[in-house]
Amino acid sequence: LKIFLADNAGFCFGVKQAMNKALSAITEKENENIFTYGPLIHNRQVIQKLEQKGLRAIENLEDAAGNTVIVRSHGVPLEFYEDAKRLNISVVDATCPFVRKVQNIARTYHDKGYCIVIVGNPDHPEVIGINGWCNNEAYIVQTESDIDKIDGCEKVCAVAQTTITLDLWDKIIKQLRQRTKILKEFNTICTATSERQISCAEIAKRVDAMIVIGGYHSSNTQKLVQISQKYCKNTYHIESVDELPIECIRDLSKIGVTAGASTPDWIIKEVIHKMSNLEQQKNENEMMDMMEEIENSFKVPRKGDVLKGKVIQVTDNEIMVNLGYKSDGIIPKEEISSDPSTNPRDIVQEGDEIEVYVLKTDDGEGNILLSKKKIDREKDWDLLERIFKSSEQKSVTVKVTEAVKGGVTAMFNEIKGFIPASQLSDSYVENLGKFVGQFLEVKVIDFNQAKRRVVFSRRAVLEEEKEKKKQLLWESMEKGKVFDGEVKRITDFGAFVDIGGVDGLIHISDLSWGKIKHPTEVVQVGDKVQTVVLDFDKERNRISLGLKQTMPEPWETVEEKYHVGEIREGKVVNLVDFGAFVELEPGIDGLVHISQIAHRHIAKASEVLSIGQTVKVKILDVDKEARRISLSIKEALEEPNAETEKDLKEFHEDEPITIGDILHSKKE
Ligand code: SF4
Repeated sequence: LKIFLADNAGFCFGVKQAMNKALSAITEKENENIFTYGPLIHNRQVIQKLEQKGLRAIENLEDAAGNTVIVRSHGVPLEFYEDAKRLNISVVDATCPFVRKVQNIARTYHDKGYCIVIVGNPDHPEVIGINGWCNNEAYIVQTESDIDKIDGCEKVCAVAQTTITLDLWDKIIKQLRQRTKILKEFNTICTATSERQISCAEIAKRVDAMIVIGGYHSSNTQKLVQISQKYCKNTYHIESVDELPIECIRDLSKIGVTAGASTPDWIIKEVIHKMSNLEQQKNENEMMDMMEEIENSFKVPRKGDVLKGKVIQVTDNEIMVNLGYKSDGIIPKEEISSDPSTNPRDIVQEGDEIEVYVLKTDDGEGNILLSKKKIDREKDWDLLERIFKSSEQKSVTVKVTEAVKGGVTAMFNEIKGFIPASQLSDSYVENLGKFVGQFLEVKVIDFNQAKRRVVFSRRAVLEEEKEKKKQLLWESMEKGKVFDGEVKRITDFGAFVDIGGVDGLIHISDLSWGKIKHPTEVVQVGDKVQTVVLDFDKERNRISLGLKQTMPEPWETVEEKYHVGEIREGKVVNLVDFGAFVELEPGIDGLVHISQIAHRHIAKASEVLSIGQTVKVKILDVDKEARRISLSIKEALEEPNAETEKDLKEFHEDEPITIGDILHSKKE
């Protein structure tokens, strides 16, 4: 890295003088208040140092009444001195002699009746000061268009703000010459400024980057930045060494440095020093890298080393790795993965960085024999241990590889684990072999890296899923909700149905609209049924379900289905003193009055009927409101003849006779 420092960079003569005067005043008037009228120079770091020495800037002269005020190098309007006198202020005048010269020209020619034109920035304190030496009547021209403001002036005296560019001065003077009869031109541009600008441009043309040091509010520094940018796109404006753009310039070979008129030498030195160190550091780093490379090329890795390398070739059978040693490394297919179906090309690409384990320093052909799966295995052990120890144990995916005694073996990447038969499912597993080849979600339930033992459980995952399902089911539970379920267990009082992780009970009375003696008359274990929630108690984990409620209530449609005079078949379900009840369908029982059972007189229904017997009945009456149907067996029968009556009687004496038997015998 070469550093080029521009000529005339930093403090100009005027600024140096102002600084010296200020420091002398501070020393001489140790116990007095000393102020500057506006900041002494446009440099934050310098101002901070002066403030630490007790020098403060004021904007209003009244604030310094009775004390000492330093006039900075920009100068001040003439009336300042009268005001200072009135306020009993002791003035230390540090106006730059070049500025004072401009002020004097302005006053002299103003007194001679000339219109004064100041080419410069109307807001700059130097221009405001000069204007104050010609009764504040000067025309201030910053651009060519400002010239139009000059009106009725036969005699013009033009002066320049000391820091403007020569280019601007020439343009304005050219115009003034054309428009003015008598023109007195005083090019008062300070040579320090123009020389600094010229040397800045020259250096900017031949470097990779320019560093311009100076206050962000310093107008002469800003102009240096503009000039530099014209010739060098990598121009950086900084105020102090801390802002040096290290990353942008680190790898460049030529850097130029210049600084504004308010930049002290010590800041310039700091910047150059830091860049020189950078160069030294860069050289040292390069040297170190080179040395390491040379050293590595002579070194041979040791068996068991874990190294990083770059993949230089991948085939179907191996991966070749550059480890930075004189020999390259080879990972054969069997050391890439335990899964023989793995293709090396699916694992890495050329150019990838890879971590490897050294198995042998020479595989017989001069190459270093490496293993990837050994590294992966260690990583997998670490991962499993983290999972096993974490409070929210995550599940992992394993591939079942073999059925063995008491369970199956399963691979988690490169690690072989065991799943006991009891942990393969949440129910009994008879055929372990059916799991071989399957990918299963499992939890780690036992882990011992030292003994290389890991036990997985699929059952834990299934139970967790079940629990989640159960939670969701309970959250959505409401009376009247219909669930599909499966009959799991049957007792005398009802059937237990799994409706998705939770069992509910269908009481025997809610299984059917008809009368049943046992739930098995309606459902069997394993039946898929649709049920409705009748009631539930989350605290006690109880759900009452209804099966019959999912079907229409039979009495609702009784009038449409059963008409008076029709002959139907039914089943005797109860015998009472006054007759028999016959079930036409579950939930619809009709009464056959004893007088309607047979054509002959019987004292009890049981004389001719028995429970469970199927009979033909005639519908005599249907009363939906009263939920009553009157039936007649005898009217469903033909009028018996005397012989039949006799046969019936005899037959009945031997064994209980049924209407079915009667009908059967009649047919025969
Ligand atoms: S730039 Fe020139 S005129 Fe301005 S203070 Fe410095 S020496 Fe004086």
